[in-house]
Amino acid sequence: MSDDLTGRKTPADRPRLVPRYQGQGYRDDLIARRRAWIEDLTGVPLRHVGGTSLSGESMRGNVENPIGTAQVPLGLAGPLAVRGEAAEGVFYVPLATTEGALVRSYERGMLALTRAGGAEVRVTRDENCLSPVLRCSGLAEATALAGWLPAHRAELAAAAEATTGHGKLVAVEAVPIGREVLATFRFSTGDAQGMNMVARATEAACRWLMEAGKASSFLLMSGASGEKRASGRLLAGGKGKTVTAGAVLSATVLDSVLGVTAAQMLELWRHTVRGQLHAGTLGYQGHVGNGLTAFFIACGQDVANVVNAAVAVTSFEPAGDDSLYAAVHLPALPVATVGGGTGLGTARECLELLGCYGAGRAARLAEIAGATVLAGELSMGAALASGEMVTAHEAYGRNRPSED
Ligand code: NAP
Repeated sequence: MSDDLTGRKTPADRPRLVPRYQGQGYRDDLIARRRAWIEDLTGVPLRHVGGTSLSGESMRGNVENPIGTAQVPLGLAGPLAVRGEAAEGVFYVPLATTEGALVRSYERGMLALTRAGGAEVRVTRDENCLSPVLRCSGLAEATALAGWLPAHRAELAAAAEATTGHGKLVAVEAVPIGREVLATFRFSTGDAQGMNMVARATEAACRWLMEAGKASSFLLMSGASGEKRASGRLLAGGKGKTVTAGAVLSATVLDSVLGVTAAQMLELWRHTVRGQLHAGTLGYQGHVGNGLTAFFIACGQDVANVVNAAVAVTSFEPAGDDSLYAAVHLPALPVATVGGGTGLGTARECLELLGCYGAGRAARLAEIAGATVLAGELSMGAALASGEMVTAHEAYGRNRPSED
């Protein structure tokens, strides 16, 4: 049998290519045919992979060579009271995970925050960026260009913003290094995560620089922007939304919901800061990536961005009367309510549960994410401080291998 609609056959001695079906590969019947192709090749039946409610056409732009969908269990945690600027009220947060105990743990932290009057949350910065390298004829030219770029944001914006209706170039930074300039183009991206938008716009600006004779060539991504890569630079913000969430927890809430005292939480913080310093951790936090990954999968965010979003700082401070002030600072949280995977079946439904689907909702989603992360930091901190960590995972999170 041929692998494609062309009728061409792969020679027997060569690994076969995944069928593309000549641009028609998102048709539901051809997705089923591709799935049957790999079932046939491997002898593995893909009943669950094929059991999806998503149309093939809805996956265009999100995946290539589709054969179905991966399913991840979805839990609901709440109530979570949030006192933000864009998110104000009580929320029930969908979390997609295979880690038993995660939802229960976040739920416990959410209950503590809710009993404490809610998590106060603010988005203090909202940008995405890309850092290309511009090549010049010599070191003097590179130094001159690095001085010229920030002062000519308006001309660069005209070139960049011609490619997007929503992206706005807010700043250009430049560092000369030898004969090159390491530039950073900073954009506001509306409600989109913006990587496609920012890449297109930055490329247009770089082409304009070449046409204007300012640079001889460029490489669009230098690696300095911290996209899907943890770096110290992320702590200063500018790669997504900068979100700060905090709450005062009374001795009663700490005891009744989390089973700890403020003194135990402060002691835990002191000891684990030392441990994380010893390990060279970027930022300081308990398990920010845990809740964010579950939140991102549920809500159709680009999950690989958890690598940069989890460069964060959690802090516990005494707040008088045996109370605790707990805060998380997420300097680089790229969340979106438009574009990317946000419109796909379950993702859209989860965003709608939070009132966060579509235009004008991204700050609200960021604030709910910030409060969710704070809940997780409190609950995990309490489990460690009180010595309950292993017991909780034994109760909720042990899976024995299945014969099915
Ligand atoms: P996108 O889905 O490519 O584009 C979304 C588009 O929606 C925007 O470009 C914008 O069009 C439009 N839009 C409509 N209403 C909007 C609103 N209220 N606010 C903002 N935009 C609005 O998404 P993206 O956010 O640019 O990029 C995210 C995707 O990029 C993710 O899927 C991610 O996986 C992927 N990604 C790309 C790269 C890369 O290097 N290109 C790297 C990592 C990840 P206009 O721009 O025309 O206004």
